[in-house]
Amino acid sequence: MRRCYKCGQKAVVYLRQYRIAFCKEHYLEWYLKRVQETIKEFRMFGKGDRVLVAVSGGKDSLSLWDALHRLGYEAGGLYIDLGIGDYSRRSREVCEKFARERSLKLHVVELSKEIATIPEIREKEKRPACSFCGQIKRYYMNHVAKKEGYSVVATGHNLDDESATLFSNVLSWNMDYLSRQFPVLLEGEGFVRKVKPLFKFTEKENALYAFLSGIEFVEEECPFSEGASSIEYKRILSEIEEKSPGTKLRFYMDFLRRMHPILQQDKAQLNPCKVCGEPTSSEVCSICRLRERLSSKALSF
Ligand code: SF4
Ligand code: ZN
Ligand code: ZN
Repeated sequence: MRRCYKCGQKAVVYLRQYRIAFCKEHYLEWYLKRVQETIKEFRMFGKGDRVLVAVSGGKDSLSLWDALHRLGYEAGGLYIDLGIGDYSRRSREVCEKFARERSLKLHVVELSKEIATIPEIREKEKRPACSFCGQIKRYYMNHVAKKEGYSVVATGHNLDDESATLFSNVLSWNMDYLSRQFPVLLEGEGFVRKVKPLFKFTEKENALYAFLSGIEFVEEECPFSEGASSIEYKRILSEIEEKSPGTKLRFYMDFLRRMHPILQQDKAQLNPCKVCGEPTSSEVCSICRLRERLSSKALSF
């Protein structure tokens, strides 16, 4: 039987890559301390900032919101209702309940009222849902943060997400994406600051935090996530991690330390969209162009 490295009680978790075991109480303490240290190390935000946490109803984003709240930050939530059938209905309920139980402010954007639901757009655009959904979500995170007076947007991306994205960007040598892959994207040119305070935690560590703190979350994945290449990359990286614990974190941290500084040149110039004012590299942003396309398609039906 393993014992907690702090108090000697029976351990409930063993973290292979750090070779430490914890009881419930000391795991939660370790987790919160590490979130706080990451925020400080990367100068993500301070106690004077208002943080908007983008929540999906899953373990990562709700753990993040819970941790920021416990650490004493002023954190509101944003749920973007994508209109993806039961999946969206259930995840919205979970987010609303989470906010209600803790008396926290939850902002809700209903995509059906703004543009159209993700399944509707997919149908009309004849493209995979994920090819525009991520962009739409980023657009509304920025938009709502500015409208509601938040200085920072925080997302629950974990180490598995970030290392899989890095892996994919390296495989295609996507220099533009690589140069923007960082846990803090500073404000400017119409963007509020964007941060990923959980980027050092694996999916399992977040699930454990959620489970041990009694957070109710939606376990089912978005139905459109099936077959996404990121799932395959996550699987490959987890196999390597299994054989050599700590590889994912090293892969990502070494990228941040060694490679990222070299890539900070030649960034595209941005200007406000002529229609909605959000930042874009063209005259009219891609979301306004999508909205325009959908409305003209609707007319021709
Ligand atoms: Fe959107 Fe679902 Fe794709 Fe995620 S998996 S980007 S929620 S469509
Ligand atoms: Zn303990
Ligand atoms: Zn626009």
